[in-house]
Amino acid sequence: MSRAYNFSPGPAALPEPVLRQAQAEMLEYRDSGASIVEISHRGEAFLEVAHRTEADLRTLLSIPDDYAVLFTAGGATTVQALLPLNFANAGQTVDYVVTGHWGKTALKQAAPSADARIAASTEAGGFRSLPARGEWTESPDAAYLHVTANETIHGVEFREIPTAGDVPVIADFSSSIASEPLDITRFGAIYAGAQKNLGPVGIAVLIARRDLLERAGQPRAPIFDYRTQLEGESMLNTPPTWNWYMLGLTVKWMLDEGGVAVFAERNARKAALLYSAIDGSGGYYRNDVAIDARSRMNVPFFLHDPALDAAFLTESKAAGLVALKGHRVLGGMRASIYNAMPEAGVQALADFMQEFQQRHG
Ligand SMILES: *Cc1c(COP(=O)(O)O)cnc(C)c1O
Repeated sequence: MSRAYNFSPGPAALPEPVLRQAQAEMLEYRDSGASIVEISHRGEAFLEVAHRTEADLRTLLSIPDDYAVLFTAGGATTVQALLPLNFANAGQTVDYVVTGHWGKTALKQAAPSADARIAASTEAGGFRSLPARGEWTESPDAAYLHVTANETIHGVEFREIPTAGDVPVIADFSSSIASEPLDITRFGAIYAGAQKNLGPVGIAVLIARRDLLERAGQPRAPIFDYRTQLEGESMLNTPPTWNWYMLGLTVKWMLDEGGVAVFAERNARKAALLYSAIDGSGGYYRNDVAIDARSRMNVPFFLHDPALDAAFLTESKAAGLVALKGHRVLGGMRASIYNAMPEAGVQALADFMQEFQQRHG
C-alpha cells in the first residue's frame, strides 16, 4: 500500500507522522491499559490530552488570554447555527458578507434565530471576487458581522479581513486556520471545523472574546450555550475524544514544523506554483477567480474542454494524485493544498498537468 498525494477538500489529508503516532498508540495509550478512545474523558490521561491540546493551540495561533477556546462537536455548520443564539439577542440584526457557498450556508443557519441580513454578496458575479469594502451596507446596531475567511468551494479568500468599527467580526476560518499568522484581536470570534487544516472531522474549534461570551444571548439549551460549555471545559457531555486527541497531534506537528509563519511561506510557494501552472498553460487550464481574491488553500480549475475531465481524473489518480474532482456546484477540478500537503505534492500535480496537456493537447 502506498499513500497518494491527497488533494481532498475535507476530510483532508493528515500529516503522515500524525497518522503513524496514532497508529502506534492505538492499542494502548501511554500506560493506561487501553486505547485513547476507550478511556474516560474525565480521567487523568484524557484531561492531559485536552489541556495540552488547548495550550498548544494557544501557542500555535498566539491566542491572547482574553479569548476563550471551545472544542465543539457537530462541525462548523453547527457553530454557524449557534452563533446568533450565543452572540445576538432575540430579533437583533446580524450582518453577513457572502462570498461563496459557505457564507450562504452560515446565513441560512443563522436566519431562524436572528434578523440576518446580507451586508455584501458577490453571488451575482458567480462568487469570483471579493466585495469592495466601500460598498458593504452594514447595520450599525448589528450584534456581529460574519465573514468567511476562505471559501473552500469557490476558491475565494480574503487576504486581510476588514474590521467593522464597534461591531465584532466573526469569521469562519474552517479551511484556512493556522495557514498563516493571524491577529486574533481583530475578531470577536473565529471558528473552524477541524477536517480541513486542523485534524479529523467530528470536532470544531471556536475562539471567542470572553466579554462577548458573557453577554446574554438568547434562551437556549445548556448544551448549546457557549458560556456553559466554557464553564464545563467543553465537556458538558462526552466530547469526541478521538477527534480531540487527533487534533492535538496535528497541532503539535504544526508546532514541530516551525509554526504558522513557516506554513505561511510554504503555502505561498505552493499556491504560486499551482496558479502559475494554470495561468501558464495558454488557456488549457483556467481559474476564474479575480487574482486578488484567489485562495491559497483551495484552487478550483477547469480544463478548456470538459470532455477531458474524466481522463484527467483517471490519469491523475494513476499518477498518485487523488481527490482532484471539483465540487458538484462548480464542476471541473479542485486542488486543496492545506498545511499537510507537501510542496513536492503540488510540484507533482503541476508536472502532471503539463504532461497531460502535452499528451492530450
Ligand atoms: C467545510 C466547511 C464548513 C462546514 O464544515 P462542517 O464541519 O462539515 O459543518 C463550513 N465552512 C467552511 C469554510 C468550510 O470549509
